[in-house]
Amino acid sequence: MSNKPRDRLRVATQKSGRLTDAGRDLLTRSGLSFRESRDRLFCYGESLPIDLLLVRDDDIPGLIAEGTCDLGFVGRNVLEEQRLERTRRGEAAPFRELRALGFGRCRLSIAVPQDMAWAGPQSLAGLRIATSYPQLLGDWLDRHGIAAQVVMLSGSVEIAPRLGTAEAICDLVSSGATLAANQLREVATVLDSEAVLIGPAQPFADERGDHADLLLRRLDGTLQVRDSKLLMLHVDRTALDAVIRLLPGIDTTPIVTALDGRSDAVALQAVCQGAITWQHLEDMKRAGARSMLVLPVEQMLA
Ligand code: ATP
Ligand code: ZN
Repeated sequence: MSNKPRDRLRVATQKSGRLTDAGRDLLTRSGLSFRESRDRLFCYGESLPIDLLLVRDDDIPGLIAEGTCDLGFVGRNVLEEQRLERTRRGEAAPFRELRALGFGRCRLSIAVPQDMAWAGPQSLAGLRIATSYPQLLGDWLDRHGIAAQVVMLSGSVEIAPRLGTAEAICDLVSSGATLAANQLREVATVLDSEAVLIGPAQPFADERGDHADLLLRRLDGTLQVRDSKLLMLHVDRTALDAVIRLLPGIDTTPIVTALDGRSDAVALQAVCQGAITWQHLEDMKRAGARSMLVLPVEQMLA
């Protein structure tokens, strides 16, 4: 399948779940539009030769490995679990992470009952740990030199300690509310995860390579502007350096322009990454900035 040339790129995304909306939103903001098929499993790309296949997240690395799909959006937790599984079988992973996408953030963590004493990883020695991620957990236990029993569960891992099937768990956590509701305490992080774009380990040999490059450039632009703001202000020349030093998260040189009829003051314009808080603005005002404006950035092309 993978060696059969294709002139359209096929991207696997989660059909319905935590990664679905944010993934679609990222593609839309990158200028891709789709026509959904009646069975809602396939979306035909209208603006670019890039189609979507809507599947279960766990199937995505396999679909790329067998060449049914070219790229995919999947949680790093799923990617790494399946990569380890293949390593354990002595296979090289046929897929790789191309970009971190900044949504679906969570962590694979070890949690124990709130009343259990915790003196570090060695407290897990000899215990049963329930998880849906046996490879990642096994790898972490090996790296810490701990002998514990991994109990594989495909769901509802958090109730295992109450049911008496395990003493501890290793599960995905985002807010921690589920752990708290089950009287569990997070004690160690096995993996920090977010949605990632994955592709084959080998580069594409046909037109799909160009489509993939185009998609990557678009995604990079969209990801970059997501947290970017355009900051504009006026400042006296004498205070200019002090204000520039306070600009939060600038990665390009700010633009300084003359103000009509004023030799003592200038206008300054800069693209800032990350949040610009009231505190930032107040600090800059104290340093001499005036007429400050913070504007969202719609698009950016380096
Ligand atoms: P599917 O039906 O596609 O198999 P699923 O139930 O396996 O869906 P979801 O619960 O939708 O998957 O989670 C998809 C991904 O979202 C996870 O693999 C993980 O990367 C990410 N995620 C983010 N926060 C959480 C969380 N609190 N719990 C579980 N997954 C999370
Ligand atoms: Zn799944």
